[in-house]
Amino acid sequence: MSDGYTIRFGEGGETYMTTVAAVSSVLAGWAPTEWAESWDNVGLLVGDPGAAVGRVLVALDVTDDVLDEAERLGAEMIVAFHPPLFAPLSRVRADEAESRVIWRAVAAGLALYATHTSLDSARPGTSDFLAEALGLGPTLPLRPAAEDSERGLGRLGELPAPVALGALTAAVAEVTGAAYCRLAGDPQRAVRRVAVLGGSGASFVAEAAAAGAEVLITGDAKHHDALDAERRGLALIDPGHGPSEKFVVERTAAFLAAACPEVLVDESNATVDPFARGA
Ligand SMILES: [Zn+2]
Repeated sequence: MSDGYTIRFGEGGETYMTTVAAVSSVLAGWAPTEWAESWDNVGLLVGDPGAAVGRVLVALDVTDDVLDEAERLGAEMIVAFHPPLFAPLSRVRADEAESRVIWRAVAAGLALYATHTSLDSARPGTSDFLAEALGLGPTLPLRPAAEDSERGLGRLGELPAPVALGALTAAVAEVTGAAYCRLAGDPQRAVRRVAVLGGSGASFVAEAAAAGAEVLITGDAKHHDALDAERRGLALIDPGHGPSEKFVVERTAAFLAAACPEVLVDESNATVDPFARGA
């Protein structure tokens, strides 16, 4: 029988199994789905809430490699950071790139859950992981949530001591495992006040500069973002989108392993950065 959260086998109720709904509820306890940005698509996107879960695979994206891995491991659920369903689909076909992973997940009975901007806004959240890895002291959200100034998008904090931008760029590359890491700024300039935004955060250049940051660390920065930052006296460090978010995989896996001890939790081995395949 199932009450939606546990499935009990046997008259004595000796064995309990976690369900997709229970794992979803645990994740939403950390990063409530209503904290996601209005344009986002988070939570349980594919699957049967009442289905049993013995093994969960945590990944940044739901790719064919990650689906292969889930099937190899015998996982019943994938918890991804980026939503595998985002743009509306009018067909779900095995032979079309837009919908193949959805087809595969349904055909394999795999549940798909996405955290994305609900985890960006949570405490700890996506940018906290990057800030902690860089040794930033106590941080504040760069763009606080309207309902709660303690959470929100991006983080702003100070390094224990000023660091030259060149050395900080090398440190960002090292902690994120980035195959390359770009700096727009003078490598000799010492900085201390740092803004971080895991993912695609170059639209936060003006907010980071206005908040007094000397450097913004984020992915997906473009030429004009770098020029805009330069005009505002802000340096930019870009390790790539995937590497700047890579910590969400290990942190989400660690959270689930602690919160659902009856479930086996694996971190995906698939690379988080499509620009660094085979690197
Ligand atoms: Zn992202």
